[in-house]
Amino acid sequence: MSDRQGYVRLARRVSLRLLEEPYLYDRWGDELYELNQDALEGLKRCRGHLTLEQAGLDPEFAAYCLEEGLLELSESPWPMPLALGPSPSPSLRYLELQITWRCNLACAHCYLGPAAKIDLPVEQIAALLREFEAMGGLRVMLSGGEPLMHPWWDEINALLAALPVRRVLLSNGLLLGVKMLERLNCDEVQISLDGLEPGHERLRGKGSFGKAVAAARAVKASGRDLSIATMVHAGNLDQFGELDRLVRSLGAMEWGIDAPSLSGRLAANPELAVSPEQAASAMAHAYGGAYHGGGGGMACGQHLATVAADGKVAQCGFYLDDPLGWAEEGLWTCWERRRPLAISELRGCSKCEAAMDCGGGCRFRAGDPLGPDPVMCAAYGITPKETT
Ligand code: SF4
Ligand code: SF4
Repeated sequence: MSDRQGYVRLARRVSLRLLEEPYLYDRWGDELYELNQDALEGLKRCRGHLTLEQAGLDPEFAAYCLEEGLLELSESPWPMPLALGPSPSPSLRYLELQITWRCNLACAHCYLGPAAKIDLPVEQIAALLREFEAMGGLRVMLSGGEPLMHPWWDEINALLAALPVRRVLLSNGLLLGVKMLERLNCDEVQISLDGLEPGHERLRGKGSFGKAVAAARAVKASGRDLSIATMVHAGNLDQFGELDRLVRSLGAMEWGIDAPSLSGRLAANPELAVSPEQAASAMAHAYGGAYHGGGGGMACGQHLATVAADGKVAQCGFYLDDPLGWAEEGLWTCWERRRPLAISELRGCSKCEAAMDCGGGCRFRAGDPLGPDPVMCAAYGITPKETT
């Protein structure tokens, strides 16, 4: 069988998305390929009912897609449905689901405050996932609390099995044994690692470091993507050189480093706070993608929403006191209430020479919602008052 006589369809790991532009999304590689109208129309015909020749794709483009594993061929028809609806504007690409506020740790910096036996019901999670997929969502992040503490975790895990978006588990690693990983329906696991042993355990308690590192190794061994999340604090500032070596040796595809905001439990532990300069210096070690960012002249969180365990929908986890609405109203309804912020509206940032790269930093950390983010100003060597 020559390639052109094979029946062609999109590989299971990819799907079409109508966001601000048409895209092909590869959820394994977490990669968006922007499409022109011809490519979009051609790929819409790749549903397993036509041969490559009949689908009429540009031969060079088709060869590229086959080589990259974005298209698959079969000797006989293997029809698949095409679900391709419109997305809101701006598109909702990233959804954090805080499925439970239960936790098996009591971290000194947790922005949620005390753990609580509050869980998103499984039926509500199912409805949110359906709506997120229909809105063109790319990546769902299951967080908490500790998401594996949800009493109906197995049912939630089953919902993830056939979900055509990238599925990311955000975990402290304590419950991530080999058996849990064997049945986990996630593409990526993010483990929290808040320093080397002394720094990590200063926040998370004795014995937690070894378990987190073991979980990170087990994630890699299971063949899933690993990412690491680290909070900068006064007890780990001296550890970033060594931690950098550890994170890279673990094979993490992404290292997200954040500076704490004085909320949740951290408000009761102010001695953990760091200066903007200290935070910026540690954050320079971070690498890999980010889903908080803005882009196109807009401030952070342009494509992100969070649903909390009590059903509140907010622009991110820091805005649960000022929610957009409730999950039962529907994601689209809540998302439409969000007012995107342009960088030109930010008093401290609109004239800043670093604004296009920085994007105005984190709006919550800025304190004043229209003011500069001191950590990012330190990172870019900007004196905030110069820009007001
Ligand atoms: S306010 Fe901060 S935490 Fe929230 S989306 Fe923006 S960068 Fe992320
Ligand atoms: S460096 Fe500071 S002033 Fe400039 S855009 Fe970023 S947060 Fe705003």
